[in-house]
Amino acid sequence: MNTPIAYDMLVIGSGPAGQKAAVEAARSGASVALIEKTRKLGGACVQRGTIPSKTLRENALRVRNMRMNAQLSNFKLAEDTELATLITRLNNVLNAHDEYMRKQLERTQVNLIHGRARFLSPQDVEVESVRGEKQTYSSGHILIATGSHPRKPPDIPVDHEHLFDSDSILSMMYLPKSLTVLGGGVIASEYASIFQALGVSVTMIDKYPHPLGFLDNDLTQTFLNDFTQMGGTWKGNTKVTRCYWNGMDAVITECDDGTEVRSEKLLCAAGRVANVKELEISNAGLQLNERGLIDVDDQLETQVRGIYAAGDVIGPPSLASASMEQGRRAACNSLEITSGVVHSVIPAGIYSIPELSSIGISETQAREKFGDVFVGVARFDEIARGQISGALNGMLKIVCDTDGKTILGIMIVGEGATELIHIGQMALINNSPVDIFVETVFNFPTLAEAYRAAALEIIHQRKINSSRS
Ligand SMILES: Cc1cc2nc3c(=O)[nH]c(=O)nc-3n(C[C@H](O)[C@H](O)[C@H](O)COP(=O)(O)OP(=O)(O)OC[C@H]3O[C@@H](n4cnc5c(N)ncnc54)[C@H](O)[C@@H]3O)c2cc1C
Repeated sequence: MNTPIAYDMLVIGSGPAGQKAAVEAARSGASVALIEKTRKLGGACVQRGTIPSKTLRENALRVRNMRMNAQLSNFKLAEDTELATLITRLNNVLNAHDEYMRKQLERTQVNLIHGRARFLSPQDVEVESVRGEKQTYSSGHILIATGSHPRKPPDIPVDHEHLFDSDSILSMMYLPKSLTVLGGGVIASEYASIFQALGVSVTMIDKYPHPLGFLDNDLTQTFLNDFTQMGGTWKGNTKVTRCYWNGMDAVITECDDGTEVRSEKLLCAAGRVANVKELEISNAGLQLNERGLIDVDDQLETQVRGIYAAGDVIGPPSLASASMEQGRRAACNSLEITSGVVHSVIPAGIYSIPELSSIGISETQAREKFGDVFVGVARFDEIARGQISGALNGMLKIVCDTDGKTILGIMIVGEGATELIHIGQMALINNSPVDIFVETVFNFPTLAEAYRAAALEIIHQRKINSSRS
């Protein structure tokens, strides 16, 4: 081992978790090194996940809107549209992000080290540069924020040419005519609906009856209605038995119900696994749990004192938003800086078309836990703004406790869902009764008015109940 270079804190990985951790630690006056193995900063979020997929979505929405407004424009996407044309602004967005992050790291005096990290001991990390040079760094405060990569089911021969995973799907040259999507999770639902909106004929296959099983069925049904109205096909309760490129013109997906789906390309979106192989965490005295993730306590500390972990390596919710906050908090906890109040309820945003968002618990979970809960629903086609803007296919649902007062959860499907949820989030974390949505005057006409309509339903039910008792 060469002479180690000591830092107050070492952060491994420059994704949302690592980046926020490094900046937070440096701002407190600590000397910080951020180790990143790839040339570009930002991790899966910036390079292959959140930002690229949302850039494509933005253009898919434009294409869909132009098609829907046939009276305003007679729009048709060219048959051989290159995927790059549909993510035109991506490089600008990525370069701007990279530059902003580098400047922020420079400003806060975080030392950026390019190379692959591996543990030598609980305090020592060796970094190997692309030229093969090795240097050891040491610290009593280390954060593992190495993220995740797509899970590769053994029987799906992903070749990144015909069969893709979520890291490689956007490397397709042209928009295919047809796409099979394996999976019913967030990434599967997002890409399936985005490609369908672009005019690709998409078939989604999953072993569960509904996609996005953590949401209530009425929400996922609204998503499915929209997806099938656009021309997509959902094959639930179906197991894939075999999947292969036929060597000529199609990917063949054989299902346990005896059917066969043919498509030009396939996307396997079967979850993600932690990036830990190269880290050799056993040298630090760490091991993975049975789900292949790193266990942490509520301080985000692992079983080994001084080693923290945040972001996708510790598992759900596996969101950039949550990873950033976990990274920041892990740095605070490690260096004993106050991190402020921690709110455990965080929203989930699903950028499918239409988008979905939720916070707190679902109606199904609430009924299982508490029994007769109060539920108020407002459909966007009953809201003036929904009618005016044509955003009719959507709904907002509020779930309250058995007294019909305390908000337990909010779920929204429809355009604007991922922004609208924050109104509910503020009410939820401030323990405001559901009445707050009726006592407050909202702008008119807005989709936010759906909160008022859903809350009025609950208050109405509450009155009926109390007059009965
Ligand atoms: C298609 C897709 C869409 C998504 N959309 C959204 C969304 O809309 N909203 C949202 O909130 N989240 C979204 N996510 C999830 C989000 O991208 C992740 O939750 C987030 O990137 C996790 O951040 P992280 O910091 O834990 O890891 P990552 O972003 O994965 O970063 C980890 C970094 O560590 C580096 N690294 C790994 N091993 C080593 C090593 N040994 N040495 C040095 N460096 C190493 C990697 O190169 C990488 O840069 C999406 C993900 C995908 C795949």
